[in-house]
Order: sequence, then C-alpha cells, then structure tokens
Amino acid sequence: MEEVIEKIVAGNLAAVRGRIEAATRAAGRPAGSVALVAVSKTHPAAIVREALAAGHRLFGENRVQEAEAKYPALRESFPDLVLHLIGPLQTNKVRDAVSLFDVIETVDRPRIAAALAREMERTGRRLPCLIEVNTGEEPQKSGVLPEAADAFIDECRGRLGLPIVGLMCVPPVDGEPAPHFALLREIARRTGLEVLSMGMSADFETAIRFGATHVRVGTAIFGARGMESA
Ligand SMILES: *Cc1c(COP(=O)(O)O)cnc(C)c1O
Repeated sequence: MEEVIEKIVAGNLAAVRGRIEAATRAAGRPAGSVALVAVSKTHPAAIVREALAAGHRLFGENRVQEAEAKYPALRESFPDLVLHLIGPLQTNKVRDAVSLFDVIETVDRPRIAAALAREMERTGRRLPCLIEVNTGEEPQKSGVLPEAADAFIDECRGRLGLPIVGLMCVPPVDGEPAPHFALLREIARRTGLEVLSMGMSADFETAIRFGATHVRVGTAIFGARGMESA
C-alpha cells in the first residue's frame, strides 16, 4: 500500500513538474523560473514524506495548527524543507507561524502586518512575506482589495519594515482566472514586487503564462481532499 502511494505521489510530482516546464517554455520564460509549492493540507505526514523521498522540498500549508502537528518531525529528517503559510493568519497564531514557517504568503490586513512586524523584531527571524490580494473582491475571502493594495504595501514595507517580496491571490472559483492573474501582475509591476504566487491545480498553466513565480498545487500531486478543506 505505502509503496503504491509513494509511486503515485512521485509520479504526480513528475507530471506536474513536466507541465510546469512546458508552460514556462511556452510562455517564453527561462527554465526554472517557476517554483512548485506542493500544498499538503489535510494529507498526513506519511504522504508528505513520499514527496520528500521523491526529492521535493517546497510545501504549503493553510493552517498553523495542522502544520505544527506535521512539519517539525518532517524537518528533522529533511532540514532543507521549506514551508509556506498559504492560509489566513490570526493574531494569536503569529508567534507560532513565525517560528514554524519560512515564508508567509497571506499578509492581508494592518493588524496582522503589525503583529508580524513585532514578532520578527522580537525574534530577529525575518521571513519573506507576500501580500494577499482579493482580486475578485469577494466579501467572504481574505486579502486586501485591489484599490487598497498599493497603500497597504507601502505601509508594510515602510512604517512596519516588513520584508515584503511579492503578492499572492486566489481567484474566484467560478469564472476565468486570467484577468485576476493579470491584475496581480499589474499591481506587482507598479509596486516593484517580484514574487507572484498564483495558480493552483486547475489553472497553474494559465498563471505561468501571466508571470507566476510560484504555483501552489495540491490536488494534482496528493489527490483529492475531503469536503471540508477548500
Ligand atoms: C488548497 C489551496 C491550494 C491548492 O489547491 P488545489 O486546487 O488542490 O491545487 C492553493 N492555494 C491555496 C491558498 C489553498 O488553500
């Protein structure tokens, strides 16, 4: 059974890497310019280990608590593992998040930005951060609204001194993702940010066409999740 899972994860990873390479080439972009963040949320540590055994090192988790339960042991076996937080952060989890993750992709409001700045100052652990933009202006979704993005980015980089390196978005589930990727790219261009985390299992090739530097892929690597975890 485990051997079968191992083969499936390794095979899926190879397939996704191949599709990323092809999309990168088709977009006329340099080979290796798109990083694959393997999204392991809801999948047990044993499955993540199969990806690590297949040579993968870059992962994303959307909940601090779940990541805390899985990743410290994995890091002991694979010290070069890199972990991104890709889900919403609460102020009472900032301390844990800064100690566990390597990149925070979801800075989305002043309160969280200020708490992150304080914790990074306190610990001296300065993590690269991305600002999440709610490109679809969906009321239920986190992320700064596009028209407020420039001012928020300025505040984070300026007054708060956060190491902001890029932007992240999750387009609405229905509809064409391309305009959202184009909007994120445009905000990054005018604010001088280089990292663009966009594209998931269903649309990462489109995101690469629009300049994604990081694609976040879960289902296409680890298989379907339970219902609860969108
Ligand atoms: C779950 C998740 C992903 C991965 O989604 P898939 O469709 O499984 O590839 C990417 N980004 C975020 C923010 C997620 O929560």
